[in-house]
Amino acid sequence: MNNFIQTSAARTLSNAVQDHYIPAEAPFSTVVRAGQTVRIEDSYGQQAIDTLFYNAADFSERYSSQDTLREHGAAYISTGTRVISNEGRVMLTMTADTCGRHDTSAGACSCESNTVRFGHSVKYLHACRDNFVIEVSKHGMSKRDVVPNINLFMNVPIEPSGEMTIVDGISAPGDYVELKAEMDVLLVISNCPQINNPCNGFDPTPVRVLVWDGEDA
Ligand SMILES: [Zn+2]
Repeated sequence: MNNFIQTSAARTLSNAVQDHYIPAEAPFSTVVRAGQTVRIEDSYGQQAIDTLFYNAADFSERYSSQDTLREHGAAYISTGTRVISNEGRVMLTMTADTCGRHDTSAGACSCESNTVRFGHSVKYLHACRDNFVIEVSKHGMSKRDVVPNINLFMNVPIEPSGEMTIVDGISAPGDYVELKAEMDVLLVISNCPQINNPCNGFDPTPVRVLVWDGEDA
C-alpha cells in the first residue's frame, strides 16, 4: 500500500508473520506472542495511533502509563522504554523508534471530551474511546477495561512550567516504532479519527502493523 516501509536484514516484508492495513479512523487488535516484535508504522505521517496492551492470558493485567513513566524516568516513551503493566511487570520493550516523540499523558479523545474542547456540534464525530470500546468488546471486555493509553506519534510538548498542549505531529511518512513482546500481549489500537486538533494533521490516514517472530523462534 505504500513505498515507505523500511526493513532490517533480519526482518523483511516477506518473512513477517502478520501484516495489517488499518484504515483511517478504524479500530484494530491482534495478539503478539512473547519473543515476537511488532512494528507500528505511521504510513503517511502525522497520525496519532492510540495504543493499549493487555496480557493475552489475563486481560485484568494491562498497560499502566503511570508505572511506565515512573520506571522510564521521563515524560516521553522511546527506544529502551519498558512498557509496564498494572502488576508492575514488563509487557514489551521498545526496541526501535524513528520518530522520537510519543505521548502517554494526554489520553484518548472521546465524544464527551470533544464537546468540552470543541463545542457541542462535534458530539457526533467518531472518537478513540468509541474505537477502544468496540475493539475490546470483541475480546469480552467493556468500557471499564479501557485505561489511559499510549499515543504513538502524538506530539504533546510539556513546557518547563508543566503546561502541555497537543500540537502538530513531527512524524514523517513511514516512521515506525518496534516493540519486542516480553509476554503474550493483546495489542489494541484506535487509529485516531480526531479532526479538531493537530494530532492527525487534520487528516486521519491509514497505518500499518507488522509482526515478526524472534530470532530464536
Ligand atoms: Zn483520538
